[in-house]
Amino acid sequence: SQIKEVEFVKSSSRAKDCPKDNRPEFAILGRSNVGKSSLINALVRKKEVALTSKKPGKTQLINHFLVNKSWYIVDLPGYGFLEEVGLILRLTATVLLSFLWLFARAPDSAKTDWSSFTKGYFLNRETLVAVLLLIDASVPPQRIDLDCANWLGRNNIPMTFVFTKCDKMKASKGKRPDENIKDFQELIRENYRQHPPWIMTSSVTGLGRDELLLHMSQLRNY
Ligand code: GDP
Repeated sequence: SQIKEVEFVKSSSRAKDCPKDNRPEFAILGRSNVGKSSLINALVRKKEVALTSKKPGKTQLINHFLVNKSWYIVDLPGYGFLEEVGLILRLTATVLLSFLWLFARAPDSAKTDWSSFTKGYFLNRETLVAVLLLIDASVPPQRIDLDCANWLGRNNIPMTFVFTKCDKMKASKGKRPDENIKDFQELIRENYRQHPPWIMTSSVTGLGRDELLLHMSQLRNY
């Protein structure tokens, strides 16, 4: 299950433009600063493989990396964008209802909106094996992460919770990572009949690295 080789394939702005070779893929998603680049580098064990590019322009895209010539890691832009998701949904609903009778088509500018094209990716990508939803275990459950998990859950998109920064000591008044994880799981439990699998990781200590690689290989072969 180890990663021997990683190769950047392409950046796409829509599911339609993604590679069409039917290889299985895992999308990596999380809030900016959740530790995504660190985790990917730890998985790949090569610092120079800057999988998650922070270059502007590239962050808005769906980035495909081919692993061992057989499956993909898909890097999605960090959300922060989802903060507006409630607003966007309400606005979209209002606009759609107002214009539906005109059969008005969405203007081109709307198609470049992050959430719409990324949602399109989740909903239309048949080769998506699972979303690895990264959640920072060093902070209490964040509304935005819960919203994201719930949206994926509601849409039956398979996901695995990957808790990051599990090595972190608690801030003076804060809870320990395992306590934050428990709180997150409790909040999620109310919404799911089947609880998504979850893994504790740390890019500093290497915790969870092999478990995550094994998990991905099991899902691929399922
Ligand atoms: P990204 O924006 O999601 O790609 O996050 P980065 O990988 O750039 O990490 C954001 C910050 O969190 C950096 O300061 C990292 O050093 C720190 N960080 C990332 N992973 C870990 C971890 O496992 N443990 C600790 N203690 N800090 C981490």
